[in-house]
Parts: sequence; structure tokens; C-alpha cells
Amino acid sequence: MLDKIYRFLEGRYGFDDLYACLLYLYVILLCLSMITRHWIVEILMILVFVIMCFRVLSKNKKKRSQENERYLQIKDKFFHPFSSLKRQWKDRHTFVYKKCHKCKTVLRMPLPSERGIKHVHCPKCQKRLTVLCLRKEKVEIFTKDGKRKR
Ligand SMILES: [Zn+2]
Repeated sequence: MLDKIYRFLEGRYGFDDLYACLLYLYVILLCLSMITRHWIVEILMILVFVIMCFRVLSKNKKKRSQENERYLQIKDKFFHPFSSLKRQWKDRHTFVYKKCHKCKTVLRMPLPSERGIKHVHCPKCQKRLTVLCLRKEKVEIFTKDGKRKR
């Protein structure tokens, strides 16, 4: 019996990121169907389940992996701006970010030691950019008794 199952699953595509996404969608639809009890939600649930099963058991691995690649590209496009914002927030005390008007590249520069206007060149298109820095590099001096001076 177990041998038959192994033989059946041999050469099948299996699980991937798109499968995980569909699984999340299925769980969301399941919760929604428990609240609304609407037939459209249940039909969508069945549809998602059928797609999930079809993809896992499919023998056309090339096409399934292409679908997965397309999904990952769309996901990347959607989440990329947020990952950039997260990074900018994380190192806001040490770096300044400026977007190039011409090529839309985001430049990451270390925080200068003095406030004021700085000029930089975009490494991609060589356009000269003006950066107004209102913050400066935070220099902390520790005195002998351990107190901080700025
Ligand atoms: Zn540029």
C-alpha cells in the first residue's frame, strides 16, 4: 500500500511558495465562509483547493515552476518598497537616503559630520544631486564619570 503511494507521488511537482500562498488564501476563505456562509466563498474555496491539488500532483514541473517564478516576481514587486522603507527606518541614525530624480535609484549615504547642503553624483546616471542634511552624525563623548556629552 505504502509502496503504491510512493510510486504515485514519484515525479510529481510538490510544494512551493505559490502553494503556501494558496494555502493562506484557503485558510482566509475558510474563516470568511464560517462568518458569511455565502455560496460564492465556498465555490472559491473549492476552486483554490482544486488548484492546490492540481499543482502539487502535476507532472509538468517546468510549467509549475514557471508559474511559481511569476508569482515570486509579483510578490517581490509588491513587497520591495516596504522592505526598502524598513531598512531606511532601521539605519536612520547613520545614513541619509535620497532618490535620484532621473533614474529613480535610491542612494544611501553616510550621515555627514556637519549639517547643510551636500552635492553627490548618482552612480548610475551621474546626475548631480543636492541633499539637504538637517541631521548630522551623532558623536557621543563619554566623560570619566560615565556621563554622556553631545
Ligand atoms: Zn540617477
